[in-house]
Amino acid sequence: MECGKLYIVATPIGNLEDITYRAINVLNSVDIIAAEDTRHTLKLLNKYEISKHLISYHRHNEEIKSDGLIKELKEGKNIALVSDAGTPGICDPGEVIIKKCVEENIEVIPIPGACAFVNALICSGLNTDSFLFIGFLPLNKKNRREKLEQVENSKNTVILYEAPHKLQATLKDLKDVVGNRTIVVARELTKIHEEFIRGNIDEIIQRTLEIKGELIILIEGNANLKTEKEKLKDLSLEDHYLYYQRTGITKKEIIKNIAKDRNIAKNEVYMYFIDRK
Ligand code: SAM
Repeated sequence: MECGKLYIVATPIGNLEDITYRAINVLNSVDIIAAEDTRHTLKLLNKYEISKHLISYHRHNEEIKSDGLIKELKEGKNIALVSDAGTPGICDPGEVIIKKCVEENIEVIPIPGACAFVNALICSGLNTDSFLFIGFLPLNKKNRREKLEQVENSKNTVILYEAPHKLQATLKDLKDVVGNRTIVVARELTKIHEEFIRGNIDEIIQRTLEIKGELIILIEGNANLKTEKEKLKDLSLEDHYLYYQRTGITKKEIIKNIAKDRNIAKNEVYMYFIDRK
């Protein structure tokens, strides 16, 4: 029997009109819709007069439910996967069943549509050519610190998802690590109270004391970030020497590396250390 297909269908992030004709057609044509929250998805289906067999598929049952769905797919059923908002798999369930389908050679078909961070990024006014999407910062201290360091060390715009009641704490953590950088908070996209709040972190902390709704934090890339080579060039020749000495390489190799890092002749480095003896 021919396997069914798994359609990953993006749904609106607020405004119910943000759904494509193709998404509606797919939702109408599949045998089963696997939804993060069936009651939530029902509102969308009712608006578009779609009546379908709904199965719940959320973070806490992803493993078990995906095995059942794979069985249905193998029996030839077509399934659409939707989350509460936007694109499944982006800070939403999806990854588990998609990986299993790939392993089982079951076709996975994307049905594009809304994704909150893409829309926040394009209207932020920050650089869009390259970016780092982190999603929600972890709560565990060590993991959170690691992610914040990634923010600090990114030349590119960084994007975080955050809940409104945690925004103040997150902005303060960010300020401690990245300094008073320019950021944008994109709030309630596609909804009545949509807004982009732009400024440095201190200003945004003051302007978001009572913030409500769904939001995204975008952080301007670190323009002053130095490459490893630039950092080495800033060292004194002695410290530069020590840096390589600690790696256990020979004197000859140390001199060769220093000359290369600083774009100077090997002999110049050699003479410097000879003169100082
Ligand atoms: N899968 C979704 C997507 O494609 O963007 C993201 C789901 S994630 C569980 C929910 C988070 O996305 C929210 O906490 C918020 O950070 C962001 N988000 C979702 N809808 C939004 C909206 N309309 N405006 C601003 N942020 C939104």
